[in-house]
Amino acid sequence: MRLTHGNLLAARDFPVNLFHKANTSAGSGPNKGETILASVRKPDSPRTILLVEDSEPVRAALRAALEAAHYTVREAATGEGGLTQTAGVDLILLDIGLPDISGFDVLERLRGGQHSNLPVIILSGREEVDVKIRALDLGADDYVTKPFDPGELLARVRAALRRQQEAAAASNGVVQVGPFQIDITTGDTRREDRPVRLSPMEARFVKMLAQRSGQPVGTRQLTETLWGYDTAEQRQALRVLARKVRCKLEKDPDAPRFLLTEPRLGYRLVDPEFASN
Ligand code: CA
Repeated sequence: MRLTHGNLLAARDFPVNLFHKANTSAGSGPNKGETILASVRKPDSPRTILLVEDSEPVRAALRAALEAAHYTVREAATGEGGLTQTAGVDLILLDIGLPDISGFDVLERLRGGQHSNLPVIILSGREEVDVKIRALDLGADDYVTKPFDPGELLARVRAALRRQQEAAAASNGVVQVGPFQIDITTGDTRREDRPVRLSPMEARFVKMLAQRSGQPVGTRQLTETLWGYDTAEQRQALRVLARKVRCKLEKDPDAPRFLLTEPRLGYRLVDPEFASN
């Protein structure tokens, strides 16, 4: 199949109301789309997303959805324009049918240059199977099909950002949990690049949780690793330790978002942005 500007830009593919699906399927009330957007959790450190898309209405709709989810948005209407704006960008949403060079060209140049790992999500038309396959072959991370469901779009964006984060963590031994960067070999913890002062025991505790970020770590495993034995006294000490760490990591230690208690099991370090629903 040969792409043309026309077959990518068929007007019927781009409803002006991006939230059409949410509005109609939700039934009652005129503002269901807004309700859905309002429930999107604000990421702790804003990520920057570059939109490379020549259709102004599509860009506007994407910008609205992304900004409602508290992403910082940059826009380019051409491929060359997009390539000049990649510095500091965390993810690119890339249209294929662009007025100058194609999205495939943009993708090839990104992958061949300094952005070999930058997440790229292709914006494709519903029937463009060839486009999707070729884009994935060229190193795109994912694609979304126009017209967009904002919930699905944001889920794809979160997933792509998360995969990149996990790949980065695997390469340098640092995991990102919400605003925290935690070295999984030392427990050294930074909050948006400022060190969090942890005692050696607190750091060992955080390290154990960070090594299994998102998964629960059992009380017994924690006490035996931290103190060498598991008694009622150590379990009490563990609760005190968790409390101290929460006071350093959490805005409200009584309502923790990152260091969670797993009742009768242990503790879990989670990134609320990616916590399963
Ligand atoms: Ca286009």
